[in-house]
Amino acid sequence: AARVEFRDVHFAYDQNRQILKGISFEVPAGKTVAIVGPSGAGKSTISRLLFRFYDIQRGAILIDGQDLRDVQQESLRSAIGMVPQDTVLFNDTISYNIRYGRMSATEDEVRTAAELAQVADFIERLPDGYKAMVGERGLKLSGGEKQRVAIARTILKAPPILILDEATSALDSHTEQEIQAALDLVSRDRTTIVIAHRLSTVVGADEIIVLKDGVIAERGRHAELLAQA
Ligand code: ADP
Ligand code: ADP
Repeated sequence: AARVEFRDVHFAYDQNRQILKGISFEVPAGKTVAIVGPSGAGKSTISRLLFRFYDIQRGAILIDGQDLRDVQQESLRSAIGMVPQDTVLFNDTISYNIRYGRMSATEDEVRTAAELAQVADFIERLPDGYKAMVGERGLKLSGGEKQRVAIARTILKAPPILILDEATSALDSHTEQEIQAALDLVSRDRTTIVIAHRLSTVVGADEIIVLKDGVIAERGRHAELLAQA
């Protein structure tokens, strides 16, 4: 696991509108933070910045004390697993899509990851879109199922840092609990998790950060925040 730190982070997609106005927080190695707040607050932006999809304009993002700007793109990609809001799968079997997390994985490891994320049933099938070319093996997956494939990939990869960009929002609450259980298996001390979510019902987060208008409005544990509300 790796320590993640945001230090006075400022960010704007265009000069006229500041999206993040000085965000500072720290996630100790192996802990889970949930970033919540209304739509448009900047939650996804934070996860994209950590993935270095964009560069920040002021402040710093540090991984184990190292400035993100000094981390090689390649090592950043291997250090961070990302389950984006809209998972796009490769036009290959679900099994390949999971294996992509760690190409050297054994069949058994792929299967175990698939079982944990509950996608084992269609592991040898292909995502939709390929259907026209391959006929019967084509499989139409819902948004939630695609996210589960991405989660299986992440379980296999066991990255030091995992970003879930509203990852459970497309899942029903029953599945959400099972995914949460699977995520607990990934996390156990080895993974630092950053969850960007609309709701404050994120279970199991060590800290919840409430984002509003580009600043941190509140922070604390779930129970503490509920008590204040
Ligand atoms: P959240 O995840 O909290 O819903 P986002 O981080 O997606 O919020 O977006 C924060 C703000 O930045 C919103 O006002 C959104 O419209 C704007 N925004 C997001 N992505 C872009 C982009 N690529 N270009 C310009 N503005 C963007
Ligand atoms: P690897 O898992 O082998 O490091 P990538 O670096 O290509 O592979 O992608 C890691 C994860 O991040 C994948 O689940 C991918 O869908 C997602 N991802 C890659 N690039 C982006 C991006 N620009 N924005 C959002 N998600 C991305």
